[in-house]
Amino acid sequence: MARRALITGVTGQDGAYLSRLLLEKGYDVVGGSRASPARDLWRLKALGIDRDVRIVDLELLDSRSIVSVIERERPDEIYNLAAQSVVSSSFHLPVLTGDADALGVARILEAITGIDPSIRFYQASSSEMFGDAPAAPQSEGTPFRPRSPYGAAKLYAHWMTVNARNAGGLFACSGIVFNHESPLRGLEFVTRKITHGFARIAVGRGDGIELGNLDATRDWGSAPDYVEAMWRMLHAKRPDDYVLATGQSHSVRSFCKAAAQAAGFDLTWHGSGTDEVAVDAKTGRVVVRVNEKFYRPNEPIPLVGDPTKARRELGWQPRMSFEDLVRTMVEEDLRRLRR
Ligand code: GDP
Repeated sequence: MARRALITGVTGQDGAYLSRLLLEKGYDVVGGSRASPARDLWRLKALGIDRDVRIVDLELLDSRSIVSVIERERPDEIYNLAAQSVVSSSFHLPVLTGDADALGVARILEAITGIDPSIRFYQASSSEMFGDAPAAPQSEGTPFRPRSPYGAAKLYAHWMTVNARNAGGLFACSGIVFNHESPLRGLEFVTRKITHGFARIAVGRGDGIELGNLDATRDWGSAPDYVEAMWRMLHAKRPDDYVLATGQSHSVRSFCKAAAQAAGFDLTWHGSGTDEVAVDAKTGRVVVRVNEKFYRPNEPIPLVGDPTKARRELGWQPRMSFEDLVRTMVEEDLRRLRR
């Protein structure tokens, strides 16, 4: 019989790519999503798999909802990708973020333990748990010092997962995942905001992009590569925690440069601080402005991951380069806007 996977947060970026991967592997994929009359399946549709994933109502704020889905579906594997995943929103919604991202995981682990402890569990942990990291790059041994309510909530969930494995004997794994992007990324994230913004200008539908800190850096990988590692974790000899990252960091400014180039612009930067702008050399138009509104409180020191352990033990490494990632995102945005 086909293995069955329950993916929480199936309507998100990673939910879509992981669904596609597991379907290709012959899984029966059950997708958990909050009950909503306006459920948006655009990502599953974009991958052509919206009819292949069985969507079920699942509410991480409610233990009974979690228990009833697991009892009814009896998955072999659960991938917890559901979360309030926008770091900046977590500053305004710390309690909701903690309820879903931290306690939600305690609820799932309690349900697995009570119903069937042989269910394998993947927790989507985050590089945001490192926060104000004492050193770079960050690996599995780097101390965590989260600096956002999101990072703090994810850290609670991470330790609950580790404890469920060490004390509870569950096959529970935590992927400490650095930023991973794709054409299915939401527009609230800076990468997609930039690629979509340049694509709009290129097709004559946008006036320019407003950004926050241009010198913030991230370790940006490609989401389809990362979901492969999630599956590998649940099929390793033993459960463990792994950093998933490229090992290379880039600034928001260099992401802009690469995206602009892919969209046919040639940027030059002028001014400094909140007065800095990027001008397209060909047309003389201002295409990027800085707006303080998008500055983030407590911006930590550079986050860049060390994926050595995942390479050594899972045989995993990211395949897509930074340049290809940016170009793919711009091209897909251009294609959608021209359609
Ligand atoms: P995050 O790492 O999950 O918070 O992913 P984001 O894509 O939201 O942010 C990545 C980095 O881009 C952070 O360091 C932000 O401060 C920086 N950034 C600069 N300008 C913007 C912007 O306009 N929007 C967002 N979301 N981030 C921005």
